[in-house]
Amino acid sequence: MTTLCSEGYRQFYNALQAETVSTEDILNLIPGALAYIAEELHLGKFAMRTELPPSSADSHGFNDFRVLYESPDGFDLSAHSRMFKSPAKGTVSFAVFPSVGYRWNDEEKASLDFLTKNLYIVLAKARVTEMLNMRQLTDFLTNLPNTSYFMKFCNELNAKGILNQYTVIFSNLKSFNYINQTLGSQAGDTVLKEYGKKLTDFYKQNELIARFGGDNFVAILRNENVENYLNYISKINITVALGNQTRVLAISARSGVYPIPDGLGSISEAIGRANASLSYARQTNSLDAVWFRQEILERANNEREIISYFKTALLHKEFLVYYQPKVDVITGRIAGCEALVRWKRNGSVLSPAGFVPVLENEGLICDLDFYVLERVCEHIKQWTDKNIVPARVSVNFSKLHLRNPHLSEDVMNVIRSYGINPDFLEIELTESASSEDYEAMELFVDELKLNGICTSIDDFGTGYSSLSLLKDLHVDVIKIDKSFVDNIAVTYSKDRIILNSIISMIDGLNMDSVAEGCESAAQAKILKDMNCTMIQGYLFDKPLPFDEYTEKLASGHIYKTDL
Ligand code: C2E
Ligand code: MG
Ligand code: MG
Repeated sequence: MTTLCSEGYRQFYNALQAETVSTEDILNLIPGALAYIAEELHLGKFAMRTELPPSSADSHGFNDFRVLYESPDGFDLSAHSRMFKSPAKGTVSFAVFPSVGYRWNDEEKASLDFLTKNLYIVLAKARVTEMLNMRQLTDFLTNLPNTSYFMKFCNELNAKGILNQYTVIFSNLKSFNYINQTLGSQAGDTVLKEYGKKLTDFYKQNELIARFGGDNFVAILRNENVENYLNYISKINITVALGNQTRVLAISARSGVYPIPDGLGSISEAIGRANASLSYARQTNSLDAVWFRQEILERANNEREIISYFKTALLHKEFLVYYQPKVDVITGRIAGCEALVRWKRNGSVLSPAGFVPVLENEGLICDLDFYVLERVCEHIKQWTDKNIVPARVSVNFSKLHLRNPHLSEDVMNVIRSYGINPDFLEIELTESASSEDYEAMELFVDELKLNGICTSIDDFGTGYSSLSLLKDLHVDVIKIDKSFVDNIAVTYSKDRIILNSIISMIDGLNMDSVAEGCESAAQAKILKDMNCTMIQGYLFDKPLPFDEYTEKLASGHIYKTDL
């Protein structure tokens, strides 16, 4: 009979002492270990069944049956069985059969119990360690692999030299912020959890999909499965409970796709390129999936440069303010103007489309807006000092300002510091989808009004809640987006009909209307007939540098509006 001190047992234990912490590795070691004591213990067959249901610590669970030892000479059917209960309502059962014709006595059965208990402890320890390691590699909310796991997995593929058979896909859910804002963050969490499950269902062995925080998901898939995946995530239905009701949300994603070439620099580079392609998809509002190309990299580098150089450029006063007149349709006089920023950089003048969205994305735009406001105040001061009556200047303010609880105070401090009359200023705001923004906007508009500053809604008609904005916000001016104006002069124009009603609504609510982007006399005539208050567009003038605009202002320039 074997004892704890027997050579066989010593070897049995040694064989189970592995560096590795994986349950699977330990399971693979057991047959070799059992071989050392099989003869001493008269083992005929040794089988183990593991049934661990999914738990909060392990979302997949673990089910397994395997024969860990079987004697070539056969075994007797009189099994000695032992079952252990795991803390998470699972079981590990051993069935041990003696060699043919052998019967264990009580002492030997006690040794078998000791053996199975020890095996259970070794396995449980491996599993706990494995699960702890997994937790560190798992995203808490979705149970998907996290960033660290993703990197580990990719490095393993790289070590095998097969990364070039894979593609990285960086995806972001469309309208997720909208879900969070309209249905609440709990519903948002449910969406992410359920979405995570659907992604887990998708990927195969040797592939991985991880959550990179927020609503970002990154997949590394074999090249041949990419199209399938993009198709899969183009629409995933998620059911969420809202009070007593359930609602099915069709979730779609936007993706940047980077097939890994031979000789890739690093995994981070692959992820970066997929991410740059996603940003491109987002900013250009192009197709839902954008494949990486060189131009995207250049754009991403350019953005990085803008971000890193911005503060210095602000300090060096590289930003200029141009002014585009708003023309009174009846008199042809300059009734106001819009301050539009330009960046004078390396001898050329960059237009805001190239840098404003980047700064907005990075949360840097507010500094620029205040810089523009200061320049505008300075210019107004110069005009009044020279007895030139300034037409009201509107300054664009990003909706990111609405997070600032002292916004109106900050604006007023700037105006006071230049000692100018607030009547000459107007702040342009764009529509926003979020209700918090909306409330902050209402407050900001009212506070500015109390201080004598007008406000306007920019790009009206392109956002979400145009009609309630008209009703509830106490703004003074509505600026109708160029996209409306573009089509009014064509025959049978629906835009013309809509615009006509919008302008009379604005008029009826005692607000002024400004039509943006008017390029032709035909458009201007229609706008005039609709009683639009002011027109701003290339038909009259492009945004002008300070000196040129000052000249027109000083000379009382009259534009031809008798069309
Ligand atoms: P926006 O505020 O809607 O300004 C009107 C834009 O339309 C200006 O472009 C103007 O030059 C352009 N525009 C005016 N009339 C016409 C026309 O007849 N045809 C065409 N094709 N375009 C016309 P710009 O100056 O390139 O500015 C683009 C956008 O950049 C602005 O749109 C605004 O959203 C943003 N922006 C400009 N300056 C600032 C700023 O100081 N702060 C912030 N936050 N955004 C700014
Ligand atoms: Mg504007
Ligand atoms: Mg606009």
